[in-house]
Amino acid sequence: MTRFRTTLALLVAATLSATSLALAQAKQPADLIVTGGPIYTVDVTRPIAGAFAIRGGRFVFVGTARDAMMFKGPSTRVLDLRGAAAYPGFIDAHAHLLGLGLALQSVDLTGVPTYEEIVSRVAARAKTTPAGQWITGNGWDQNRWPVKEFPTHEALDRAVPNNPVILDRVDGHAVLANAEAMRKAGITSKTADPTGGRIVRDAQGNPTGVFVDNAMSLVYRAEPKLTPAQLTAALHAAAVESNRWGLTEVQDMGEDRETILAFEALARDGKLPLRTYEMVTDDSASLAFFYARGPRKAQYNGRVWVRGIKLYADGALGSRGAALLAPYSDDSANTGLLVSTPEHLKARAIEAFRHGFQVSTHAIGDRGNRNALDAYEAALDAVHSVDARPRIEHAQIISPEDIPRFAKLGVIPSMQSSHQTSDMPWAERRLGPERIRGAYAWRTLLNTGVVIPNGTDFPVERVNPIITFHSAVTRQDAENSPPGGWYPDQRMTREEALRSMTLWPAFAAFQENELGSITAGKYADFTVLDRDIMKIAPEKILSAQVVATYVGGTPVYQATNTAATTAADGSGEVNDASSEAAPVASGAHALPIERENEWTRGLVARDPKVFDRLLAPGFVYTEDSGVMTRDDVIASATGDDTTTWAGNEDMKVHDFGDTQLVTGVLHVKGKNKSGPFDRRYAFTDTWQNRGGTWQLIGAQDYVIPK
Ligand SMILES: [Zn+2]
Repeated sequence: MTRFRTTLALLVAATLSATSLALAQAKQPADLIVTGGPIYTVDVTRPIAGAFAIRGGRFVFVGTARDAMMFKGPSTRVLDLRGAAAYPGFIDAHAHLLGLGLALQSVDLTGVPTYEEIVSRVAARAKTTPAGQWITGNGWDQNRWPVKEFPTHEALDRAVPNNPVILDRVDGHAVLANAEAMRKAGITSKTADPTGGRIVRDAQGNPTGVFVDNAMSLVYRAEPKLTPAQLTAALHAAAVESNRWGLTEVQDMGEDRETILAFEALARDGKLPLRTYEMVTDDSASLAFFYARGPRKAQYNGRVWVRGIKLYADGALGSRGAALLAPYSDDSANTGLLVSTPEHLKARAIEAFRHGFQVSTHAIGDRGNRNALDAYEAALDAVHSVDARPRIEHAQIISPEDIPRFAKLGVIPSMQSSHQTSDMPWAERRLGPERIRGAYAWRTLLNTGVVIPNGTDFPVERVNPIITFHSAVTRQDAENSPPGGWYPDQRMTREEALRSMTLWPAFAAFQENELGSITAGKYADFTVLDRDIMKIAPEKILSAQVVATYVGGTPVYQATNTAATTAADGSGEVNDASSEAAPVASGAHALPIERENEWTRGLVARDPKVFDRLLAPGFVYTEDSGVMTRDDVIASATGDDTTTWAGNEDMKVHDFGDTQLVTGVLHVKGKNKSGPFDRRYAFTDTWQNRGGTWQLIGAQDYVIPK
């Protein structure tokens, strides 16, 4: 509805920009100025910049190198990129930090081509491990072996008889245990399969050592608990490892109370070099604790967010645990596993929305995805939580009729492009030629108007976000195979791929006003690569290396052979203020607009030009692509057939310098299935001057009862 009042606010903005210009001349010096290479901002108001300036951990200016030097004071450091390229800090929208921390301490079995080699790696670790102590490993994948079948435990027992061993499958949905681990866990042929899980058995009914989905906990629970010191060390190691690969934030899927509190303790002590967006795991005790505490945003200088929960609809495709609507094409008796019942998903979603928490649900199979969509639809109707931004994690195989439901319900498909390149050798065998069309279907989903936050699911896949980018734009593996890409019509453009690693994850975590682009006012998170991945040949993308990673304007990782260097005496002369874009005079902060409860679902439709600047189209906005017009969007979101503007009333502008609130009443008329309507909405729009451009950064609307 904002389009109806844009003109007025822009007029107000125009009169104020003169003031901003004057303020610019009285600016304070920056802490750091970055220049000397291409800067991809992921901000449509200025997609490529020559420089940016940082003060107090936030970007204060983005623009030309000449103008940036206006922010240079006696103690301002200047980082000369020397041709390296800067991007907004990379965000992994779906990963497991504790899993990574533990994986760093366990035997790495990723990519190992035979079971014999797996056994010999574990045996090598056993030589330096005291008898009785647990050995963990992760990353095995029988699909890489000559015989593509689950292993059995005997070879492992012969090589490692005296240590309990548990080895996670690459997807985290199956585990292989040796006899000693099964003995400690009390597992025998009499142990029953738990709901949503499977103990793989031989012809005599004896466990073979492989435990799938919910059955994994039968073995895990025998493993001794981490001490608090071990937990903290694992989390810190995972954060440092993430920085090394250029990540400034990780959205951490499904951690328990202890782990999340350990992250908060690290952040409070100033020892967490990474932002984390924590999704609370589906256990009643952890949920009760965080619900009682309420949603927490940007704690400890924007390091830890806790305002979401993680549910599981089904298992994974590799272990045939993904729940399908029809049987597996290569296993006609099997339709996969439901890890949670549809009722459970719905009840949990309602509970979360009521507490102001976001919900993300793991769903891989088409039945898993349908259950999650159904649960969200019912929960949104029950709670009227409008800007809820529910997410489906993986959204890997979707029935054609469910694809438009994401945009319609405002459900965010959070996907991992490297899953596609890892799964492509065998996914079609599991699914057949028809269902494969709805699998890893990025383009089909993007065309409906959704955004796709991208991630790796590490330690399932490697941490490196360059692999994510490469898979997204090529749909090819590390050897650039197959030629032309696997179902290449589903590729992302490079601009989309970069957004999927920066601004789209920020949107998927309600952080788009705080991070995700190089924009004045946002946290100064950025990543420097030695190569320009937006321009180099596709087959060269994987050779790009991280030069430096900055979180809040501070380096958290620097490569030893870095081309880019900082110097307190960096060159660059002070210039006049005659540029067309006036720099922001002071570190502008987004107002903490709490939108969750008051938005009405229909009021996400905005003016396309404003929407472009908002950068975060969570809902359908596709006038250009011809999918829907804005009026269609309003009509479909509100359930109205037509909506017509009938005027604004009581418009007021509240001026706070670089931030303005515009309040008033919006009057609309139209028609819906219950007949003609005539409604008034009270609205509050927040405008902010960012780098000389006024942007709409927040909007609240609610219907005034008659
Ligand atoms: Zn995951």
